[in-house]
Amino acid sequence: MKKGIHPEYYEATVRCACGNTFTTGSTKKELRVEICSECHPFFTGRQKTATERGGRIEKFKKKYGMD
Ligand SMILES: [Zn+2]
Repeated sequence: MKKGIHPEYYEATVRCACGNTFTTGSTKKELRVEICSECHPFFTGRQKTATERGGRIEKFKKKYGMD
């Protein structure tokens, strides 16, 4: 059965490991990410954010055995 060229798009709920959720357009209804614009300085470009949320990230790293 041919479904056409364009994939179906949903407003996907993205759940980050930091606890943040946001929506984005995706072919999937729900996405899980380990890092998002709220908890990664690379995306925000603001070093201050990383410092402010550093404690949360460290906690997360320990939980998952990362360093
Ligand atoms: Zn996050």
